[in-house]
Amino acid sequence: MEKPIISVVVPCYNEQETLPILYRELSRIAEAMEDYEFEYLFVNDGSKDQTFALLTRMAEADARVKYVSFSRNFGKEAALYAGLSNAKGDYVVTMDADMQDPPSLLPEMIEPVAKGLCDNVATRRVNRIGEPRIRSFFARLFYRLMRRLSKIEIADGARDYRLMNRAMVDSILAITEYNRFSKGIFTWVGYQTKWLEYENVQRSAGETKWSFWKLLHYSLDGLVSFSNVPITISSYLGLALTVVSFIAILFEIVRTLAFGDPVSGWPSLVCIITFIGGIQLFCMGIMGQYISKTYMEVKKRPHYIIRDTNCENAKRNN
Ligand code: UDP
Ligand code: MG
Repeated sequence: MEKPIISVVVPCYNEQETLPILYRELSRIAEAMEDYEFEYLFVNDGSKDQTFALLTRMAEADARVKYVSFSRNFGKEAALYAGLSNAKGDYVVTMDADMQDPPSLLPEMIEPVAKGLCDNVATRRVNRIGEPRIRSFFARLFYRLMRRLSKIEIADGARDYRLMNRAMVDSILAITEYNRFSKGIFTWVGYQTKWLEYENVQRSAGETKWSFWKLLHYSLDGLVSFSNVPITISSYLGLALTVVSFIAILFEIVRTLAFGDPVSGWPSLVCIITFIGGIQLFCMGIMGQYISKTYMEVKKRPHYIIRDTNCENAKRNN
């Protein structure tokens, strides 16, 4: 009987230091899990270091190593999408290159899925030791906002480290939207999920690719992709202010008729004008977010462009 295949999808952006460590660890695990065959699918997301050279060398030495290399940096979401699209496995795992998603959890992750007890095993880190305080604070805030504002329940500390069966992968691939927010998409497709918790692990080598601003941008994208609440807020706010100003106008008319019109109160007027102006700009900004997202979707540009790959039948523009 043929062994089922597990595809390990790894997005890599400037990971020359961490890749050899990861590869060694994966090989060790693969040897221990002899009931399965492995495929390692590395997605080189336009790295500027020796990542690509390293990947081609690894592929020459080991037939299990597959790579997809982008024409430039398209971001981790595009890399994950490319990985899932080209994975051949009966089961697919997505994991980071830096060993923050410990490969040693794989045997534990595959078991319930292989037995059919659930469709995917997701992971969550229970602490954020080693991470800057301020970053943890904003991360928590983001998850709380996300839970409140969208119907998508994303656990705090959820990682993109997941093992899925073929059915779930195909459902994820059926979602072809341009603004991809994987943590939301994983949840949105449903299926039976089992959560696995582990302690935070620090990067094996190299450094994080996410600056504070990049993360902020990413979380805003996530919110806008999965929630219409912000734009609804702006209409409620507009409605409330209209009612308030209408009452104020009535009040002013009555007051002027009753007591005459002494010229005073211009400072408060200026305050009100700037206040209303601010709110208008704010609401227009929210609207702009949705319009720009729509714009990107309508253009239907490919998610990524492949410059080099050793996967058969890989679509170059997808
Ligand atoms: N990554 C990527 N493209 C990017 C940024 C990151 O493919 O533009 C990959 C990176 O190589 C790593 C994973 O995404 O495998 C997570 O990145 P990192 O470890 O830097 O993020 P952190 O763990 O600090 O959140
Ligand atoms: Mg990391």
